[in-house]
Amino acid sequence: MSEGLVNSIYLGAAILFILALSGLSSNENARRGNLYGMFGMALAIIATVFSDAVTNYWVILICMGSGSVLGLVLARRVKMTQMPQLVAILHSLVGLAAMSVGYATYLDPEMNFQGAEKTIHDIEVYLGIYIGAMTFSGSVIAFGKLSALINSRPVLLPGRHMINLIMFLVVIYYGTEFVNAQTLADAYIPLIVMTVIALVFGIHMVIAIGGADMPVVISMLNSYSGWAAAATGFMLSNDLLIVTGALVGSSGAILSYIMCNAMNRNFFSVIAGGFGTPGSASSTSAAVTGEAVSTSVEEVAQLLSSAKKVMIVPGYGMAMAQAQRAVSDVSRILMGKGVNVIFGIHPVAGRMPGHMNVLLAEAKVPYDVVFEMDEVNDDFPNVDVTLVIGANDTVNPSALDDPGSPISGMPVLEVWKSKVTVVLKRSMAPGYAGVDNPLFYKDNTRMLFGDAKTNMDELVKALG
Ligand code: NDP
Repeated sequence: MSEGLVNSIYLGAAILFILALSGLSSNENARRGNLYGMFGMALAIIATVFSDAVTNYWVILICMGSGSVLGLVLARRVKMTQMPQLVAILHSLVGLAAMSVGYATYLDPEMNFQGAEKTIHDIEVYLGIYIGAMTFSGSVIAFGKLSALINSRPVLLPGRHMINLIMFLVVIYYGTEFVNAQTLADAYIPLIVMTVIALVFGIHMVIAIGGADMPVVISMLNSYSGWAAAATGFMLSNDLLIVTGALVGSSGAILSYIMCNAMNRNFFSVIAGGFGTPGSASSTSAAVTGEAVSTSVEEVAQLLSSAKKVMIVPGYGMAMAQAQRAVSDVSRILMGKGVNVIFGIHPVAGRMPGHMNVLLAEAKVPYDVVFEMDEVNDDFPNVDVTLVIGANDTVNPSALDDPGSPISGMPVLEVWKSKVTVVLKRSMAPGYAGVDNPLFYKDNTRMLFGDAKTNMDELVKALG
């Protein structure tokens, strides 16, 4: 395929990727956005495989074949509740790819640059390996935390900021050594030391971030994986990879910013880790005591039937229980009875950005009754019954009332302001951030204990 044709296809693919991102910005267009992205990626792969740069089709065939089989098996096996950790581990692969391409291009005997060109190429390689290694190890730790293989509590080493600073200075020092190296032998040590530091840095950064701050880390690693891909694009002189990487990198950065705003956190505080997390000096959370009042499905059915306005607030527990269809059925039955039913979604509910929106869309809940937290938070005093389905941290009043709480300052859905709040969960256990929840002990709160799907199915029967 001629270079002109390849570049034209790349341009088309880049436009499709931009359309994909704009499609993903709203629920209604998300499916179309995904299709644009898939089509763009198919074009990009075809153009790359048939470009002059590829000479050994066997290697490509074997890699694509085994990758496709592995991807297919994984995609079929992974449950919806495991999506966050799948996304994290996929980010790690982007990092690993950037790292490998960095080493491969550096060792490639055909890459024979001189003067300024060599300096630029060396900087690309050094940066690419650095970002790649950090993304790789950070994403592996995020995978561990999200899949509960590693405790989600932050691990805060003494003098961690100093450790980070020293590592950063060593990376800069070896960067200059690497760029000035005249022989391959001189370049090895700086490159390997930097790679090890970048791997340690990735681990150290993510392991220090705890509980409720994880969403920012997920979106930040998403952004890093984009920059790692862009760096790979520079190393391979592949314009499409640069554009695509930059799109992912910048959209991930915007998402991190949105997540920080949603949690009222300063981006740099989150990255530095340990702010307001259990174990930090400021963490003197007030003890939560009282008696929770439990209720039954029949009682909740009566409350709902006599309500004029009902708010449904889903959280991670709804995903765990796979209760979204039953929740959708309950909302449809109530709407059929003339009850005004709306959904309130916290930006960090669940375990990945947009988690609840995806589940509700899958269960065919109409988009026009699903609202963001900011759109509904003032409505609660007018709500007769709020159903909290497997949400915990995102409805915890201590985020607003208790300055010593690890989640202090995080905006939450103020469900306790509605006339009655029914919380569906299995026990009194805390949520992801490990913080007790005073909501459960409020006078107007009723606890409906048990699996959310079982209870919602029962509710469908009781209402029907
Ligand atoms: P939480 O994780 O705070 O709480 C979920 C609750 O669901 C638990 O308390 C649990 O209680 C309950 N639950 C679990 N399984 C079931 C079930 N089968 N039936 C009924 N209840 C169940 O959820 P939220 O959505 O409120 O908050 C999300 C948290 O995750 C935040 O801290 C957020 O920062 C963090 N996070 C979010 C990410 C994102 O991008 N959205 C990424 C990473 C972390 P019990 O065991 O008693 O049933």
